[in-house]
Amino acid sequence: MALAHQGSCSVSSPCQINIFNVESLCRLWVLKAIYTVSAYSAIVKENRYSRQILLPEIGSEGQKKLGKARAVVIGCGALGTHALSFLVRAGVGQVVVIDRDIIDISNLQRQALFTEADVGRPKAKVAEERLRLVNSDIEIWGVVADVNYTNVQKFVRGASVVLDATDNMDTRFLVNDACVKNRIPWVYAGAVGVTGMVMAIVPGGPCMRCVFPQLPQPGELPTCDTVGIINTLPSAVASIETTEAFKIMLGKEHSNGLFVLDLWQGELQRIKVKRNPECETCGKGDFEFLQARKRKLVVSMCGRNAVQIVPTKELKGDLKDLKDTLSRQGEASIVDGVLKFKKRGVELTVFPDGRTIISGTTDLAKAKTIFSQYVGD
Ligand SMILES: [Zn+2]
Repeated sequence: MALAHQGSCSVSSPCQINIFNVESLCRLWVLKAIYTVSAYSAIVKENRYSRQILLPEIGSEGQKKLGKARAVVIGCGALGTHALSFLVRAGVGQVVVIDRDIIDISNLQRQALFTEADVGRPKAKVAEERLRLVNSDIEIWGVVADVNYTNVQKFVRGASVVLDATDNMDTRFLVNDACVKNRIPWVYAGAVGVTGMVMAIVPGGPCMRCVFPQLPQPGELPTCDTVGIINTLPSAVASIETTEAFKIMLGKEHSNGLFVLDLWQGELQRIKVKRNPECETCGKGDFEFLQARKRKLVVSMCGRNAVQIVPTKELKGDLKDLKDTLSRQGEASIVDGVLKFKKRGVELTVFPDGRTIISGTTDLAKAKTIFSQYVGD
């Protein structure tokens, strides 16, 4: 009303004139806002990466390269959440994360992107949500899937670099086969207890099987299940890993050899690695892990009191049909496209393709029995 009584308008038509004035003011304000937003967005874009553009190692040309790159992170646990945060904050244009698991309360000690409210939700989806809040200028995809011989090549194709954030050697041997075969650079990384390892693997150089020729026997290597993990280790290992990934995306020379970090002793070494002409993968080109000859279908999950079963056949019907059946036997619900079932100490998480995580046991035989009982073969 204050506006309607200002200015030189006549008493007979104050509203008309003042409405025009208000509209003009609005138009002006909208134009100013558009101008301010676009100017602000340009400044924000410039400032967002200004601290790394200042670095001679990156610079504005390097920043453009990062913006055009595609990083694929396999696994979204402790290493994955830290590596993803680095990649997304640095402005890597396309970031993909693939993970098969749901968030457990024991993950919160070291997996940086998750909170208590996320327990029970798929890691890849929650990570995607959080990372989009960090950087809306880039593309981010969270894929809830088990990386196996049927899909690994599809996931790595088109990647500028693949980052290993898995928790088992089985998947690493598979990723090594897929990346060597498709000539895609990848960075191996592992973290257990107080020690970690990182190695950048590029076409023509030594591959992971030049260093570890055979898949270790179950129980041969320590895991975070058996020896635990200090929560400062994953970010340190992911820092070295992602820096190597940045160098690859920037087209710069990567560090040759195997980094070995003992965080407790405060020691970092880089061990020279040579290509082995007899290597099954890069020497002989025998990509046996891609052919499923060594595929495990029932595995105990690292850091979790749980077993995963990948059925040989896809689920009959859809998750809703299974939910209706299981509802008669216990508590069943579908959250984030994933079926949860609870009954007297048994807890199942079933994914749309039939892959199932059985929580509360590490006994493979018991898990198979529970799977047959509730999901079927
Ligand atoms: Zn090799």
